[in-house]
Amino acid sequence: MTETSMVELIPVVDLGGRPLSPCSPEKAQQNLEDGLATMERGILRLNYRPLGYRHVHRLVRRRDGLICAWCHQPGSTLEHVLPICWGGRTSLDNCVIACRSCNHSRNNALPSLFVSWTGMRPTHPVVLKILKHEAHALQTAEQSLKNRPLSSCISKEEAQIWVAYHQGDIERIRPNAPNPPFSRYRPQADPFMQVFVP
Ligand SMILES: [Zn+2]
Repeated sequence: MTETSMVELIPVVDLGGRPLSPCSPEKAQQNLEDGLATMERGILRLNYRPLGYRHVHRLVRRRDGLICAWCHQPGSTLEHVLPICWGGRTSLDNCVIACRSCNHSRNNALPSLFVSWTGMRPTHPVVLKILKHEAHALQTAEQSLKNRPLSSCISKEEAQIWVAYHQGDIERIRPNAPNPPFSRYRPQADPFMQVFVP
């Protein structure tokens, strides 16, 4: 008899029952422990709808083209103007296209902070609107996080933030919360090189 070393994968479906890529038993267990999924007759059912994320990315690409909303260079990543960890949704009124460099260097910083670091002058209406009313957008996002169900999340990251928020554990996930404010950042000569100082 030969011993098989194949790991048996667990079938995965989203909240609407649509099949996703299967996952390892360890990953399934982690999802269950994190409250992101339930197990039903050997099938892992996610408590959120990750396929919605791709849909929004497609719509934003179609609307904006492949141009970074911050630096106006070519880009293709989906950028949440109000970051997900602040309650920002994956939606047309909170997402734009960004290049990898802007996306990564901003990390979870609020848009006003990123603009003050870099001196960039974004012209995208979605960015301008959120910049102009950032405090209000933050309040609205927090209210939304509080009131909407886990099933409204359309990415794993959003679902993780939702769970953390409802467990009162959000600060762990927001390492660069500007509260206490931006003194946590050490200014460097190159604004892109600014780092979070714990
Ligand atoms: Zn850019």
